[in-house]
Amino acid sequence: MLRSLFGKFRDTLLRRPSPEDVQVVLEAGPIAALVTALLAIIFALSYHGEGDGPVVYGWAGATVLLSLFMYLRGRKAARREVAAVSRSGSIRIVVFSLLFASPWSALAFLTLGRTDLAQQMIALMVCAGLCSGAAIVLHRTLLAATAYFGVVLLSVIAAFALRGQTDMWPVTIYVVLYGLSLLALAFLTARMSKAQETSNNELSELADDLHAAHEEISVMAFVDPVTDLPNRSVFGRQVHEQIARAEEGQGFAVFLLDLDGFKNVNDGIGYHAGDQLLQVVATRLREALGPDDEVARLWADEFALVVKGVDEQAALKRAAGIINSVSKPAMIDERAIYPNASIGGALYPRDGETEHELIRKANIALHRAKENGRGRCVLYTGAMSARIAEIDRIEHDLHVALLEGQIEIHYQPKIDLETGAPLGAEALVRWNHPKGGVLTPDQFLGVAAERGMMLDVSSHIFEVIARDIVAWRDAGAAFGKIAINIHPLDLKSPTGLLANLRRLLTAGVRQSDVVIEITEGCFVGRDTDEAAIALDAIHEMGFELALDDFGTGHASLSHLRKLPIHELKIDREFVSGICHNQHDLAIVSATIEIARCLDLRTVAEGVETAEQIAALREVGADIGQGYHWCKPVPAAEYLAFFEGQRTVASAPPPLARLASDHKTP
Ligand code: C2E
Ligand code: CA
Ligand code: CA
Repeated sequence: MLRSLFGKFRDTLLRRPSPEDVQVVLEAGPIAALVTALLAIIFALSYHGEGDGPVVYGWAGATVLLSLFMYLRGRKAARREVAAVSRSGSIRIVVFSLLFASPWSALAFLTLGRTDLAQQMIALMVCAGLCSGAAIVLHRTLLAATAYFGVVLLSVIAAFALRGQTDMWPVTIYVVLYGLSLLALAFLTARMSKAQETSNNELSELADDLHAAHEEISVMAFVDPVTDLPNRSVFGRQVHEQIARAEEGQGFAVFLLDLDGFKNVNDGIGYHAGDQLLQVVATRLREALGPDDEVARLWADEFALVVKGVDEQAALKRAAGIINSVSKPAMIDERAIYPNASIGGALYPRDGETEHELIRKANIALHRAKENGRGRCVLYTGAMSARIAEIDRIEHDLHVALLEGQIEIHYQPKIDLETGAPLGAEALVRWNHPKGGVLTPDQFLGVAAERGMMLDVSSHIFEVIARDIVAWRDAGAAFGKIAINIHPLDLKSPTGLLANLRRLLTAGVRQSDVVIEITEGCFVGRDTDEAAIALDAIHEMGFELALDDFGTGHASLSHLRKLPIHELKIDREFVSGICHNQHDLAIVSATIEIARCLDLRTVAEGVETAEQIAALREVGADIGQGYHWCKPVPAAEYLAFFEGQRTVASAPPPLARLASDHKTP
């Protein structure tokens, strides 16, 4: 225990005092000097008329001079703010406390054992009193306090010992014990000061950490971490400030820029590459802008810009320049990527007077730019808002239509080109709008897709088709195989699609009653393997698949090989030119050849003339569909057509033929 106490004492003794500790000592320095001088004078006065008087006066004079010197030094030092304590600084404090102690050490030698008892007692009491004063001043700097007590107390002991004055020993021991208890007090306070310093340091470290975290959070709140551009909230403020600053007639443009096909980079190469591309685009945008213009990243691949001092023509020109600079090839992960961008713009003050209005209208224009074929800039016009209002209305009406059964299915027959027999029909959706008459899919399916209603519409279509098929079967009518179109979005949420197919079966429809038509759009912007998994599931449920609009979209020959397809539908675009355009004829003929090799049946769409039928027969197409035979018609008309066409045809029973063409799964 003693050892550990000694260890602690030593540690505290050698500890370098903190700036606060030194500050306390320095501030007390001048007062201590004055007290020293005062005590020396009082002590000298008590020797008035004594034999030793001149010696003590000399001592007092020297002490007053020393005190004066210490006072002047101390006042200068007390005015300083102590920021740090060096080694030499802490030694200096020890030296000064030795200097302060030296007059009393000298006094001990001058008086103790030499003068009468009363004088000696006074000297001892003065020394003891000074030690308590020093304990108060130096309690936070243990080494300085020890030096002070050491010098004074050792001098007292040494003076008595030298003179062999034994009758003063009890008082001397008492004074020494008193001094030691003061030293212990100084030791304890110094330790407390050390603990306080540690906790102060910890507190200040904590405060520094908090400050740094606060700075980081502030930056994160305003800066996009991927590109270091300002974020959405800053951009809104920038536009707001721009409006406030815009002088009369000083217009500016708000551009929203969206990268075309960015998802493909993310999905194809990975998010890391996507981030790098965003950084490249951000740098290019910064370079393309003037010093007063602003750029921010709103989210994902959408950037926003403020371009100042432009009218409509200038805005279009600047936007074209920006698209050009963004669209240069970029090397990412050692691959060349060809970014492209669309821009939608709104002009201040023409298109809006608040930042929200300008950004909203630039967004409307951006949608239009993308619809119009991407890689271009479109500025907002009033007609766009009218179009949005129209889409809102269609969406609203479509909800009502689904509830009130206005969505109907028409059927367009498919004919065996060899025999003329009806083989089935394609189910085509129609909207029997109470005000607009019969609407075709292109008038509302896009809105359903855009507004997230596709699954509802598809489910309704499946329901109607199931009801029709079951009713036909129950009535004993012949109807062939019914083709059901599915939308690319249906494949995006295969769970909904598979549920629809299951409901078809539950309702009483057989797998052989239907064929599912997918378009090449199903492969755009997605990994074919992903689509293939969904299509495999459909195939495993026992349904046949047809690839629609073949040759017009993004499907490649590898899709034909990979996907479980049974039928290839040759697009009307090629069929319509088959009689007068050698290229169309060549394309149709090659497609049929490929289909034959892959054991697929072919359906020619949009057949309108007898010449086309002849040409299609010539090149070996299996089935035809088109206005030549029949337009899409309501269910009852379709049944009537089917019956009539069956009797006209001289061929074997249609169902048998279709069945024989089935590809074995
Ligand atoms: P599609 O699947 O290629 O359908 C064929 C389109 O060609 C139909 O247009 C049909 O009326 C039209 N057509 C057929 N024969 C001829 C012809 O001889 N001449 C001309 N000029 N046109 C002909 P519709 O019904 O307007 O459908 C357009 C597209 O809407 C369809 O193209 C299909 O992609 C989509 N669609 C139709 N019904 C549905 C449906 O129930 N669900 C889904 N998801 N899409 C559907
Ligand atoms: Ca179709
Ligand atoms: Ca088609």
